[in-house]
Amino acid sequence: MESKNQTTNKKKYYTCKEHFDKRFDKGRKNRFMAETKEEYFIWRENTRKLLKDLIGLDKMEACEPEAQTLEITLLEDGMLREKVVIQVEPDVYMPVYVLIPPKIREDEIQCYLALPGHMGAGKYSVAGCYDIPAAAKQIKIFHYDYGMQLARLGYVVLCPDIRGFGERREEALQSEEEYSFINGSCFHLAHMAEPLGQTVIGMNVWDMMRLLDYVKERGEWTQKGVGCIGFSGGGMLSLWLTALEDRIETAFISGYLYGYKDSLLGMNGNCSCNYVPHLWEHVDMGDIAALMAPKPVLIQSCREDHLNGSRGLVNVYEQLKIMSKAYMIFGKEEKILHDIREGGHCFHSEALGKFLGIDKCRNKCV
Ligand SMILES: [Zn+2]
Repeated sequence: MESKNQTTNKKKYYTCKEHFDKRFDKGRKNRFMAETKEEYFIWRENTRKLLKDLIGLDKMEACEPEAQTLEITLLEDGMLREKVVIQVEPDVYMPVYVLIPPKIREDEIQCYLALPGHMGAGKYSVAGCYDIPAAAKQIKIFHYDYGMQLARLGYVVLCPDIRGFGERREEALQSEEEYSFINGSCFHLAHMAEPLGQTVIGMNVWDMMRLLDYVKERGEWTQKGVGCIGFSGGGMLSLWLTALEDRIETAFISGYLYGYKDSLLGMNGNCSCNYVPHLWEHVDMGDIAALMAPKPVLIQSCREDHLNGSRGLVNVYEQLKIMSKAYMIFGKEEKILHDIREGGHCFHSEALGKFLGIDKCRNKCV
């Protein structure tokens, strides 16, 4: 007869975690240390170049965007939703929902990129596709419809499918079954990209740069740059894009600002898109955030968000401190708003008014 236990009972395991903790603690070669504006700009130039290389931006292939509008749908209260497809690399296409309110605000920033995270079916939850039950469920859990919420406030909002999500799911998740629909294929993309010197975050940053090209080419809305907003993985992309791209003037980053050691080394089962080869040898997340200075930014953290790591908000405050030092050089500490909410990993739209009012030029919206 077969015994119940099919394996041996191990009392001791020979693991690597402590080794990697020590490696991490050796320090970051490109940590933010500038004390003057001149030092800051030199550090920013060098660090941007380094990060762009690490995420593989230099490996991306430029092409004609060949943007096509595939659908125009009239939604509630005169809101238009266009479906546009843009070629971001040769034969790589990005579908985007463009939400256009009937009356666009006459603010200096009229246009936002609303970037999706995990478990939201790409653009479908962000753009508020309440008619798709699986998307509606995720919107209810995470308050994922921030793209639509901004559009209802009178802004033009572009809600892209990032790579691996929505209509860009790779083969392993191409099913109408709910699990596949709401999830993304970052894992599969990382396995194809990293041995070729590319990364998931790098490909997504590139695609968002192409989306900014599209906004400029269209030339209809924005007078002074574009803002971005994102929760969770969408917060990660907002952070990277705002840090590396001058055309993003302001950002709302929700559920993604914490120290790498507790949150991504400690929680090493998180999604592959978070992990960039060699990154932790050079910077922590607060250093990347310091590259955003002095742009107006709202960071939203939930007190019980498990992704903050075992020390909770302490792991957030440490990174904010690094970021704040960069803003202090410009005398612009007030341009960082830290919005703390109760509960777990979730977007909170109550902070939108505060975000849109960071700049006096935009305080008509509050
Ligand atoms: Zn991912």
